[in-house]
Amino acid sequence: MNYAYERLPDAGTALRLHLNENTAGCSPRVLEAMRALTRTDAAFYPEYGEAVDACARNLGVAPDQVLLLNGLDEGIHCVSFACLQRAEDGTRREAIVVLPAFDMYAACAEIASARIAEVRPGPDLSFPIGALLSAITPATRVVFLASPNNPSGLTIPRADVARVARALPEGAVALLDEAYVDFARESCLDLTAAHPNLVIGRTFAKAHGLAAVRAGCLAGHPDTIARLRHFLPPYGVNVFARTAIVAALADTDYLNWYRAQVSESRRRLYAMCDRLGLRFWPSEANFVLVRVGDGAAALAREMTARGVAIRDRSTQPGCEGCVRITTGVVEHTERAIALMEELLCDGR
Ligand SMILES: *Cc1c(COP(=O)(O)O)cnc(C)c1O
Repeated sequence: MNYAYERLPDAGTALRLHLNENTAGCSPRVLEAMRALTRTDAAFYPEYGEAVDACARNLGVAPDQVLLLNGLDEGIHCVSFACLQRAEDGTRREAIVVLPAFDMYAACAEIASARIAEVRPGPDLSFPIGALLSAITPATRVVFLASPNNPSGLTIPRADVARVARALPEGAVALLDEAYVDFARESCLDLTAAHPNLVIGRTFAKAHGLAAVRAGCLAGHPDTIARLRHFLPPYGVNVFARTAIVAALADTDYLNWYRAQVSESRRRLYAMCDRLGLRFWPSEANFVLVRVGDGAAALAREMTARGVAIRDRSTQPGCEGCVRITTGVVEHTERAIALMEELLCDGR
């Protein structure tokens, strides 16, 4: 296993700014809805009609274009096993991962037995469309894309998403991970109408604050969704997640409040970077990648020890010297800023 997912040590009581979670928690309405579940709700296999309809309405697609997931991780797993297992004659399929990338893409492709082709980022973490198109071969079955990207926070130009979809061989799928789209200017979901081989991944873990509940979905062309459905268990989404999805989508005020917190937090973190002369990437997600230099790993360790957990990303291609900081509730971001300024100014 070269690509196993790296589980992080317990952050203890530190403020969690290392996993891009919602630092305020979920909407209070979600908790009320989960509390209102009954003994028989727990006892009976869950029905999904209402949750699927709520997702479909929210995405502006038909219910047969949506697959509910036990977290988007399950969608990455599903696409990998649907598309990347060996051919009948034993030949291996290929998966393309555009770096820097969320660890689960290569981890799932590997356990599905695929060969993995990694495409390195362009200058300044720009989307390497040319290199990506050249990496596509007749054996390519999945291209993993993320927009906004984790860890850079950068988006992929829409035209490039469409070009990738057009360039793929028969039977291949482009999985566009939109885990952070709630913080971004736009989605590429509408491109799935013209490109049936494009599948969009969404999660309730980030903007909706349901990481522990485990809830996400895939969306795309009905035929593609039907093909993927076979690779998911029939009751993989539990009754808490199903209930939480409906309540979370209904509470748009809460989502909008959180989005505003995130954009103010990003603005303040950028201002800190300007004061300290640090390079950062303008982000369309709920985190910011900051280049702090050689001491990135030490800074992440020291901040975690001092009660604010952030993520060292310095070993990721193109992210040399970088840490990633979740920008959630403004007050939390202010704690990170104060500690970072103290530690970085001390060291100069
Ligand atoms: C957090 C994250 C996910 C995983 O979402 P879950 O719903 O918690 O499984 C998927 N993709 C990216 C890019 C993420 O950052």
